[in-house]
Amino acid sequence: MADILYTYKNQVYANITNRCDCSCTFCVRSLKDSVGDSETLWHKTEPTLEEILAAIDAFDFTGYDELVFCGYGEPTCALDNLLASAAYVKEKYHISIRLNTNGLGNLYHKRNIIPELAQVIDSISISLNAPTAEKYQAVTRPQFENAYPALLEFASLANASFKHTQLSIVDVLPADEISACQKIADERGIYLKIRKYS
Ligand code: SF4
Repeated sequence: MADILYTYKNQVYANITNRCDCSCTFCVRSLKDSVGDSETLWHKTEPTLEEILAAIDAFDFTGYDELVFCGYGEPTCALDNLLASAAYVKEKYHISIRLNTNGLGNLYHKRNIIPELAQVIDSISISLNAPTAEKYQAVTRPQFENAYPALLEFASLANASFKHTQLSIVDVLPADEISACQKIADERGIYLKIRKYS
């Protein structure tokens, strides 16, 4: 079985699914099979909730104050397991929970999932990736045609619900696109994280 919990740069991550509704051109999944101390992040079968909880209990959280749901898939595609395992960690280990997401969860589930997420997740990082719908479609290749406006709506709803919400881009974008993304974030009062591409 693939690693469910893994560490990378002094942070612990939960890899609860390989399902994803995007096929990003830059996705690390197409470059290598593992990240950090994991052997592989490709699951032979999707992890059950019991397997996820067992992996959580087997991990020593000493020295960690946050668990990040982020792996070789989009965590909200495994929404029930995400909610249940985040609640379990909060109650048993008393650490913060962060969700790294593509922000398409409402589109995928055809309903607003943010109230459920906000009950168990403290902070959320949403991949913006591009300053226009056209560029977004080209780089993330989502299953949906209307993904970009849905992502922006998701981000605004999230910003009203979580202790910390951020949009993220990588620093390989041209300067004019970074400025346009900054404007999009500023207009919504959301912090923009410009990540180093690695
Ligand atoms: S949304 Fe994340 S997991 Fe899915 S293809 Fe894009 S980078 Fe990869």
